Amino acid sequence: MDLVYTPEQEAFRKEARAWLEANTPKEPLASFDTRQGFEAHREWEQRLNEGGWAMVPWPVEYGGRGANLLEWLIFEEEYYRARAPGRVNQNGIFLLGPTIMEVGTAEQKARFLPKMASSQEVWAQGWSEPNAGSDMANIQATAIRDGDHFVINGQKTWASRGAYAHWLFGLFRTDPDSERHKGLSFILCPLDAPGITVRPIEKLNHKAAFAEVFFDDARVSAENLLGDEGEGWSVAMSTAGFERGLMLRSPARFQDTVARLVRLYRENAAGCDPGLKRRVADCWMRAEAYTLETYRTVSRLLEGGKIGAEASLNKIFWSELDVEMHEVALEILGWRAELLPSAAEAVGVGEWLDGYIFALAGPIYAGTNEIQRNVIAERLLGLPRK
Ligand SMILES: Cc1cc2nc3c(=O)[nH]c(=O)nc-3n(C[C@H](O)[C@H](O)[C@H](O)COP(=O)(O)OP(=O)(O)OC[C@H]3O[C@@H](n4cnc5c(N)ncnc54)[C@H](O)[C@@H]3O)c2cc1C
Repeated sequence: MDLVYTPEQEAFRKEARAWLEANTPKEPLASFDTRQGFEAHREWEQRLNEGGWAMVPWPVEYGGRGANLLEWLIFEEEYYRARAPGRVNQNGIFLLGPTIMEVGTAEQKARFLPKMASSQEVWAQGWSEPNAGSDMANIQATAIRDGDHFVINGQKTWASRGAYAHWLFGLFRTDPDSERHKGLSFILCPLDAPGITVRPIEKLNHKAAFAEVFFDDARVSAENLLGDEGEGWSVAMSTAGFERGLMLRSPARFQDTVARLVRLYRENAAGCDPGLKRRVADCWMRAEAYTLETYRTVSRLLEGGKIGAEASLNKIFWSELDVEMHEVALEILGWRAELLPSAAEAVGVGEWLDGYIFALAGPIYAGTNEIQRNVIAERLLGLPRK
């Protein structure tokens, strides 16, 4: 692997940095788990799109810049460096978009990708059901073919940003006699269709972070079937590969967190337990290792490789690192870690507590780490299932 950037890549970085410095909002936007924040983030996405920065590795005709994945990593580094807003349409641009690019028809690409790049249409992921979380093959929601439509019945839950999203991509059982991984299809559903009811789920902080979605004889055009009918599981695994293995959590996110952690330690070193210094250094090394590993994955993809079961290793690595970095930060801060940023004594406390609470969800979303360990045991190590 050649770890030196080419002059073209350096020029790309410079261009991205200049644009982000000129355009990134000076004040943080309201949380995208509120209506106001959601719309503010969509406006930001529109600005990114107008600048050609919404999804740099996509072809220009779909709202991209025709860059490659290495340039995407560079863009991500600049994005986090600029402390630009979180990506409200991450389920669309990082998960569904690459899947449409891989298995979608020309019509589906033209129909969905540009509006995804501009966040005119924001996407929710509808995989989980009340009895199908880790055991996703237990999906019960059905989509029965009726001419050129599917008639959908059932319930999805935990759809992030589902309360405000416009579309949902989900797995549905199109063969009612099928079991487990067979007979499932990947269908794109407009959330304003008759028969679809979206009910927000509030977090403890009263923000509507999720939604549960009910389907009662909802009719969805068969044109919205992604991939072949009955082959939804393999399409979904391709989406999950992008999610766990590359796009959902780029290394820049952790490089940014660890740089803040090092600063926090330096500012507070005098009052810290000496053991914390080693943990900070360890976090830094792990963030660096994750960066190099991601560059390796991208190099492999650029040479025609695919993301496979090793995406599970990746997912465990970033989610555990995120928890550790935030735990170390809270220990450095001591009792001050529990203060709300608005409290008088909260100088220099930052957003570590909020970040910690979100980091705790990392080992759960995108497939729990226990399930990823099962995948590693069976598919990478070849251990028996029982
Ligand atoms: C922040 C967040 C965002 C999310 N966003 C979405 C979303 O946008 N769309 C969506 O569809 N879902 C979403 N989810 C749901 C998520 O995918 C599920 O919570 C997750 O898959 C676990 O399913 P479950 O909650 O039903 O737990 P369960 O499956 O009931 O698992 C409970 C516990 O048992 C363990 N367990 C279960 N089976 C096994 C096994 N075979 N071996 C070992 N351990 C096992 C699990 O690891 C877990 O610790 C989100 C979750 C969170 C926390």
